Amino acid sequence: MKISATAQLTLLLAAFAAASALAEEPHASRAFYNSFSDAEEMAMGRSAAEDVEKTRPPLADAELTDYLNQVGRAVAAKSQRPQLEFHFKVVNSPSVNAFSLPSGYVYVNRGLLEVVESEAELAGVLSHEVGHVVAFHSMNDVARQEWADRAISEVKKAGLTQDQQIQNMIEKYGGTAFLFVNKKFSREEENEADLLGLYNTERAGWDPNGLIIFLNRLAHAGAEKDLYAILLRNHPLPEERVADLKAELKLSPPAKGLIKNGDAFRRMKDHLRTLPPPPEPRKQQ
Ligand SMILES: [Zn+2]
Repeated sequence: MKISATAQLTLLLAAFAAASALAEEPHASRAFYNSFSDAEEMAMGRSAAEDVEKTRPPLADAELTDYLNQVGRAVAAKSQRPQLEFHFKVVNSPSVNAFSLPSGYVYVNRGLLEVVESEAELAGVLSHEVGHVVAFHSMNDVARQEWADRAISEVKKAGLTQDQQIQNMIEKYGGTAFLFVNKKFSREEENEADLLGLYNTERAGWDPNGLIIFLNRLAHAGAEKDLYAILLRNHPLPEERVADLKAELKLSPPAKGLIKNGDAFRRMKDHLRTLPPPPEPRKQQ
């Protein structure tokens, strides 16, 4: 049977539409122009982390940091890049924010720990950040600029192994703060990180509704809206994200008996209340 080109295109589009409505985890992969190796990504993440921590020294509180890593690493171990070594750190700022650097450095503001109301919410937020790393979102951005810049490509051919080379590249494209910390993700990237986060959270044993509950709070923040300003700027459109995640869970209902909360979470909240207040927030935190 011979099918016309138009009919073929119609069939193809129908198949695509059907596929996009299927409830399943997206497969995360590098963009075609992203030729950075894992080792190069790790070197870039390490360099960016050093830079970040000059202005945002992580809170030296073993109890908080251990708990954050316990939840975060449990999520990351069930992600699509379980070989990466993730580092979760607390920033002593009252604003509600979380961001990730290439290869798995995730920073969570103390303000975020103050507003999450369950461990499932925290696991959902962390898995969203893990999703950005797993889907190479920041690295793809750097690679796209590098790809368009032939001069840098010549450097890249020799291998991006020297710290100075990495720092030069980061500076060339706007610096750590611009490239990673204040990166505004696209709707597609947010959607991908949300879906990866949703399935990842569930696979790690937590109720994936936690991310939805947290985003709902973000979407309906009233008087405390200023606290959420940075998070909303970098991860836009919470209302649409809530709707998309609810639609996904309707098609793919979570298993029964997943973790919503736990004693360790409550102990973390109690401990948080005993700490001296954070210093006045600085710009860009
Ligand atoms: Zn995001």
